[in-house]
Amino acid sequence: MNAAGYVGRFAPSPTGRLHMGSLLAALASWCDARHVGGVWRVRMEDLDPPREVPGAASDILRTLEGFGLHWDGPVVYQSQRHASYADALNFLKQNNRAYGCACTRKTLQGHAVYPGHCRKGLESEQSVRSHRFDWGQQKGDWTDAVQGECTWDSTEIGDFVIKRADGLWAYQLAVVVDDLEQGVNVVVRGSDLLDSTPKQLALRAALDPLAGSIRWAHLPLLVNAEGQKLSKQTLASAVEVAKAPGLLLAALKMLGQISPGKSEPQALADAGDVEGLLHWASQNWHLSQVPSAPLQWQG
Ligand code: GLU
Ligand code: ZN
Repeated sequence: MNAAGYVGRFAPSPTGRLHMGSLLAALASWCDARHVGGVWRVRMEDLDPPREVPGAASDILRTLEGFGLHWDGPVVYQSQRHASYADALNFLKQNNRAYGCACTRKTLQGHAVYPGHCRKGLESEQSVRSHRFDWGQQKGDWTDAVQGECTWDSTEIGDFVIKRADGLWAYQLAVVVDDLEQGVNVVVRGSDLLDSTPKQLALRAALDPLAGSIRWAHLPLLVNAEGQKLSKQTLASAVEVAKAPGLLLAALKMLGQISPGKSEPQALADAGDVEGLLHWASQNWHLSQVPSAPLQWQG
């Protein structure tokens, strides 16, 4: 892809400080964009106030800057974009791709996949609680730059919520609306989001059939010594800006970017030269060297 056409992004949720898993996603998407002189945006996914931690959004931005990961253009805040999500929902409803759902947790108990109760409309005494995307029976696939061939079948996933019963916009809808509007065409992110990709592919096609395709790369998960995914729940520790050179070097090693015998990145890290190390990383970036299997990280 030519330099001018590439638009990548990092889209953190401000539910806590950046840990090594989120740093990996930020660093890999930054390197992949900068390697071709592409644009790299930051979008703050602050759609879910109950899960947010006060101060986390500004802390994340300060941390990115401290790690030398500078973004292009203004940071987009999803909390400011409700009107666009409402437009998207209306468009889907008008095109019979979204419908109101009256189901409660109780009526859905025992169903691993949404059984489609409300797809044909509600009874007069029922009221709309959430909205779901109607994706009919579709199968698809994509070639992930890290995970390889991926396939999906909508009947195994079921119609999913795009506006929640608590009135909040669902992550799936917001991400797709924003990626379309921001012209994002390459997504490099963690494999914890692999299950979301079919939903986002289908929503994207429904919202804008003429939109170009996205190239996807899902990075290896980071797990702790017990094999659990690094997250706030497993008490992953925040990355410290003071340790940026060493942490960036460790992240680049995990991403398969530093072959044995390469002394330059180590020397740059030893000298505390974050900008130099990032420059080296973007110049020498090979997405094809990123491993697909989970990686262990203590911290
Ligand atoms: N906000 C999402 C998260 O932090 C990531 C969204 C994305 O990269 O698509 O898990
Ligand atoms: Zn329903």
